Amino acid sequence: MSKIRFFEQVNRNFDDAAAYTKHPTGLLEQIKICNSVYHITFPLKRDDGTIQTVEAWRAEHSHHKLPVKGGIRYAASVNEDEVMALAALMTYKCAIVDVPFGGAKGGIKIAKWQYSDSELERLTRRYAFELVRKNFIGPGIDVPAPDYGTGAREMSWIADTYNAMTDHSLEAFACVTGKPVSQGGVRGRTEATGQGVFFGIREACENALDMKTLGMGVGIAGKRFVIQGLGNVGYYAAKFIQEGGGILVALAEYEGAIYNPKGLDLDKVVAHRKERESILNYPGATNIENSAEALELDCDILVPAALENQITKENAPRIKARMIAEAANGPVTADAAKMLLDAGKMIIPDMYLNAGGVTVSYFEWLKNLSHVRFGRMNKRFEENSQQRLITAVEQMTGKSLPADIMKKVVTGADELDLVNSGLEETMCEAYQNIREIRARHNNEISLRTAAFIDAINKVAVTYMELGIFP
Ligand code: GLU
Repeated sequence: MSKIRFFEQVNRNFDDAAAYTKHPTGLLEQIKICNSVYHITFPLKRDDGTIQTVEAWRAEHSHHKLPVKGGIRYAASVNEDEVMALAALMTYKCAIVDVPFGGAKGGIKIAKWQYSDSELERLTRRYAFELVRKNFIGPGIDVPAPDYGTGAREMSWIADTYNAMTDHSLEAFACVTGKPVSQGGVRGRTEATGQGVFFGIREACENALDMKTLGMGVGIAGKRFVIQGLGNVGYYAAKFIQEGGGILVALAEYEGAIYNPKGLDLDKVVAHRKERESILNYPGATNIENSAEALELDCDILVPAALENQITKENAPRIKARMIAEAANGPVTADAAKMLLDAGKMIIPDMYLNAGGVTVSYFEWLKNLSHVRFGRMNKRFEENSQQRLITAVEQMTGKSLPADIMKKVVTGADELDLVNSGLEETMCEAYQNIREIRARHNNEISLRTAAFIDAINKVAVTYMELGIFP
């Protein structure tokens, strides 16, 4: 298989959508290109005393809004093209969900499992140090977050390094998101991307007309779904879809996949994998040794939640799912997408569907700048108002509400409630917006093209209002 250039794929999708807009060519070119790329090579002292050189990148795709925002990936496959493509997707993603940031992405080219915890800490701190030195990080400049192979632990090392190296200590913790709650993180960030994927799929499944076109019933309940990737995004997407009534029929990881048309219990599979160090041989399920074949299983919704370029023109003709929900970034190549759409399938595009992570990162950043937990000022006030209202109704009617019901009704929102409701509102509204754009084009364009049209228009407006373009 010839190498698929990821940034080129993103730009092909961009060009398809740009053709439906009326912006000057120069402006479109400015939106499309990647503004700055910082390529670093630095030495890492391994635990055994040997020195290894490590390659890393940070790409800032668009500075039309500041800070720029995007995750940091640790994987052996990281390369400059990938980082630039992912940074570009971040720009469009933020625009689609109205998060006021430009797009960025970082990556360190390492097979993470080959490194000890202390090596990973040295590596992460050194990377953060290099970013600080070149002004590629800061609360108003560039705010990293977790991505494939990184999590709250890496983010807290980055925050700590930034804090130690700079003197803007009051806002220092807004230099990175996805931190542990004790380090200024926000409740709900860990599960945010998967939760957003669920909201997006649910919204799509609620549309009676679209479901009819796909030959499926309305609603997520009862739909059979296959998930590729049991990382943070895949796990939480599967969890919320299952809780919403979806039936998890297959799970694919790099060591293989398991399939049970009657359904798999997600948490039991996770426990099994932890114990056996493999997903295979799960009781009652069929093993699929070649994990990629799981993508071709009979199901309603296929959720690729791992890496890019998983569905290509080679395997696209064998995909049976009617809906492909791109939880990962770039899992379907441009050629494959065309084939799937021609076959009457629906693709919910990555730059919309996995935008829940950055949406909640935005909430975390706001929390860090305001130095107050969401809900702290109004939770008790809300409860008291609800209580007053119920007491007044009780007095007027002469009837009183049973204590257990009262307890359920009188609840002020805490941080998690507010984060989740902000995320739900964002995902639902953005979906309706994209769908409307598609409807305005007589449903002849894909949801991805509609999402790109939306993003291009929003970024273009910012450039025009900056006075850079007429
Ligand atoms: N890495 C995530 C993404 O690709 C989150 C980025 C962020 O929160 O800044 O969307």
